[in-house]
Amino acid sequence: MLNVKGLVLDQRMLGEQDRSIDVLTAEYGVINIIVKGAAKLSSKTGSATQLFAYSQFSLAERKGRGGARILGSVAPIHIFYGLRSSVTAVALASYMAQAAKMAVLPRSGVPEMLRLLLNSFHHLSERTYPEAHVKAVFELRAAALLGFLPDVVMCRVCGQYLPAELCFFIEDGSFICAEHLEEGELRHYVTMPAGTLLAIRHIVLREPERIFSFKIAPHCEAPLAAFAEQFLRYHIDCELPALGYYRQIVDSLTPT
Ligand SMILES: [Zn+2]
Repeated sequence: MLNVKGLVLDQRMLGEQDRSIDVLTAEYGVINIIVKGAAKLSSKTGSATQLFAYSQFSLAERKGRGGARILGSVAPIHIFYGLRSSVTAVALASYMAQAAKMAVLPRSGVPEMLRLLLNSFHHLSERTYPEAHVKAVFELRAAALLGFLPDVVMCRVCGQYLPAELCFFIEDGSFICAEHLEEGELRHYVTMPAGTLLAIRHIVLREPERIFSFKIAPHCEAPLAAFAEQFLRYHIDCELPALGYYRQIVDSLTPT
């Protein structure tokens, strides 16, 4: 038996009886596990293998078709019950899971990604921070784990540390004071106040246990959300349908 802790990122039915789940583990990255007879599971096994459960898995050594592992036994370590009470939190968690799955498959940094995802789910579940706050922190740290760290030190043109207004470029992750921006600039960028730059610095530079704990003024939030989402999307470089779904739900709940 192979014993491993992991977070369930995705699930689908296999025929009438079985279920296939994708699980993010620190040691092996994302592994595919077949849950036999999923329709008739005990409630404990059922909850330990459901979407977003963090569980201890015992797996058969022998791999099945496509390298999938067969589930022996499983016990839940942590279930994020609070996620279920909000449709937007579930949709956001799905987007994060999808992004993490795309991001870690071919690359290293897996234990950090697992920790980032567990911390993000904790805050979504407990509502310690607004969803947009958790989303932006996740996106910027996930991009950094992929090897794309925005250059947050100073203006590329004049070296200023904290311009009152600046333009952050998505492609190369550098920024310049807004007044240097030339007419007809073709690169993608997000214009933001100094407070947003301070938040980005906090997120990408602080130690993992402190990344969520910062305050941000209301007028600095929208540019942070825009930059974080565009920066991760650009560097992850693949379609994330769950992001579109999350947007739809948020828009449908926003009064017009
Ligand atoms: Zn400058």
